[in-house]
Amino acid sequence: MLDKLTQKVSDALRAVAGKATITEKNIDEAVDAIKMALLEADVNLRVVRRFVNSTIEEAKGEKVLRSVDPGQQFIKIVHDKLVSFLGDTKQDLELKGPDTISTILMLGLQGSGKTTSSAKLALRLKKEGRKPMLVACDLVRPAAMEQLAVLGTQIGVPVFKEDGAKDSVKVYRDASSWAQKNMIDTMIIDTTGRLQIDEPMMAELSRLKDAARPDELLLVADSMTGQSAVDIAKTFDEKIGLTGVVLTKFDSDTRGGAALSLKTITGKPLKFVGTGEKPEDFEPFYPDRIAGRILGMGDVVSLVEKAQEVYDQKEAEELQKKMEKENFTLEDWLNQLKSVKKMGSLQSMIDMIPGMAGQVNEEDIDKAELKSQEAILSSMTKKERANHLIIGPSRRSRIARGSGTSVAEVARLLKRFEKMRTMMKKMSKMSKNPKSAQSMM
Ligand code: GDP
Repeated sequence: MLDKLTQKVSDALRAVAGKATITEKNIDEAVDAIKMALLEADVNLRVVRRFVNSTIEEAKGEKVLRSVDPGQQFIKIVHDKLVSFLGDTKQDLELKGPDTISTILMLGLQGSGKTTSSAKLALRLKKEGRKPMLVACDLVRPAAMEQLAVLGTQIGVPVFKEDGAKDSVKVYRDASSWAQKNMIDTMIIDTTGRLQIDEPMMAELSRLKDAARPDELLLVADSMTGQSAVDIAKTFDEKIGLTGVVLTKFDSDTRGGAALSLKTITGKPLKFVGTGEKPEDFEPFYPDRIAGRILGMGDVVSLVEKAQEVYDQKEAEELQKKMEKENFTLEDWLNQLKSVKKMGSLQSMIDMIPGMAGQVNEEDIDKAELKSQEAILSSMTKKERANHLIIGPSRRSRIARGSGTSVAEVARLLKRFEKMRTMMKKMSKMSKNPKSAQSMM
């Protein structure tokens, strides 16, 4: 996710970060390198120009060049500019209270991830305590209705569909009556998509919009298509009107151009990103956190939140405390390994860890090793997992036998555990004080 962009931007910043004094030439060079990185990331040229001009103007002011810490000041300017280009603050959905039904139209081309994102959004709203339903109004793509039904069962959200239906407005109206009878508070409508934008699709969507009078009109766009995702958003906004965008496949080798150009070119906020194929791989879009990721500062806050979704709140707070106090035990590690499986793609998590974004790929992680770690941890007694210091030579050989590994592997795991505890302590300090994350650069 954004790997190349992160690598290039953080390289450019590293060149000025530690300098006691910086010159206008240093700034020009760093901005030039960032400009190249943005262009390679397929950011719209107009957006790049605006970014470069405003950054240079501010960075060459007295405040930076004369400051005690010019490198950090410069990084702060780049960070703040990125945040502003990404849309400033997180934009929430604007839905009605639970007593009135809210409606969300999901729009987009075929293959953009519209059906998947509809289900992801439903799951998210359900977790927030709403009572969503999914409505199958994509009557063109043959498998869309069935796909939505399968996803609905998987996430435990009702799906309304009418087999053989020809008119999406009628499906909407029938779904709406069903929703009223069944205490539904949010209807998420998966609409028709085609391979390209064409008049019949726009006419149908317009009719559906007039009938449903939605609270949110979200365009689902594929981030892999770069600038063309932005063009599609512009056209949909002109023809139908949008309230926001969901950028999918943010986990894949996306260059980031769409995320950085969208707000400036269309004026519409990015509300969510899809970060994998599973229903839980869906995050609100936080401009400041994404800016942090692009600068290579990682995103500890999202990582902790992701963990909180899997653990319950109390457990998450306890874990946080344990990490701070170095009380993290082997038992916690085993629980974490088990939860990782529930958290979605590993890559999306790696990218949130400071210093790891752009450096490590999911393929580099040895899945067999994760398995053997789980086996070793499971072969320990609860007492051993609570206090690793009691694991002497005879216990080590028993654990090795029980887990089908070797004594050396058990020893390696224990050593690694010690290291991990130290690193966690550092990480939790960083998430409390982002400045210390910057000074790691
Ligand atoms: P639709 O035609 O717009 O309804 O598209 P689908 O929802 O069927 O998605 C098309 C493909 O993209 C499917 O294989 C999805 O699993 C995949 N997909 C959707 N969103 C994401 C995402 O955020 N990340 C990844 N990696 N794949 C996604």
